[in-house]
Amino acid sequence: MNTPIERLHTALETLGLKAVEARLENLLEQASKKEPSYADFLDELLNCEVEARRTRYMRAKLQLAHLPFVKTFEQFDFGFQPSIDERQIRELRSLRFIHEASNVIFLGPPGVGKTHLSVALAEAAIRSAMGVYFITAHDLATDLGRAYREGRLDRRMRIYVAPKVLVIDEVGYLPLDDLGTTIFFQLVSARYERGSIILTSNKSYGDWGSIFGDSIIATAILDRLLHHSTTINIRGESYRLKERRKAGLVPAREQERAASNSLASDSVPPKTRQKTALGSTASEAKEASL
Ligand code: ADP
Ligand code: MG
Repeated sequence: MNTPIERLHTALETLGLKAVEARLENLLEQASKKEPSYADFLDELLNCEVEARRTRYMRAKLQLAHLPFVKTFEQFDFGFQPSIDERQIRELRSLRFIHEASNVIFLGPPGVGKTHLSVALAEAAIRSAMGVYFITAHDLATDLGRAYREGRLDRRMRIYVAPKVLVIDEVGYLPLDDLGTTIFFQLVSARYERGSIILTSNKSYGDWGSIFGDSIIATAILDRLLHHSTTINIRGESYRLKERRKAGLVPAREQERAASNSLASDSVPPKTRQKTALGSTASEAKEASL
């Protein structure tokens, strides 16, 4: 004859209540010590399973989103990057921009936390049960370029149009060819006023012509991207460099060069008729390019 504990293990396993099963002895021991009410005991038991499921759900969603790492706002040292307006970050953390299908663009030299902050926003969106997809600009162009050549661009495009939030990292590290540029424009147009894009770039808007090989299409892309958007321009030192310097691995002159390499372009105020830095406001650029 099985003991009650053995029968409980069997039942919990059959029901798929793995978290409770793993902690069964512990929960029972605690209960016999604390003598909670029946309701409190049941509450604790079920909460244990609910929490475990929530964690599993988040892990699965994070995996589906293809985040390169998980970093949060709590892990970001704002004191190290005084050029970031924390009020702007607080506003973004409310995730209102996602409900408004508005975009967020992080500009700045390498190592200043562009990807970290993008991932932190993505993580917060996933926590609020929103669909998120993360990809680098280069991988995006490669993937959609292949789909185009194989005659399945429309279907493949859905992966990048469907999520509420699309993170496009490292725009500008590598120039895009004509096909990549056309596809990028199509994607930005398809998401325009429908879903948010969080984008990072090491290039100020004035240099986007060199990414897309053509200032007219760069203007048309910026026009749609910036119409409803917030730009966070980070002009600081690389955090990686700081860590290497702390370890005594970086000579002083390299530090100075890295600091002076920070972006020269102006910060763009959120939700205004923004300068595209290609010499015209967003709506003027639209007229010029279409
Ligand atoms: P970028 O995308 O601008 O090149 P990352 O976001 O990849 O830079 O940052 C490089 C590394 O430094 C990451 O591990 C990131 O978590 C860390 N990092 C950058 N800035 C900060 C910061 N202000 N506080 C804490 N960690 C930071
Ligand atoms: Mg990065």
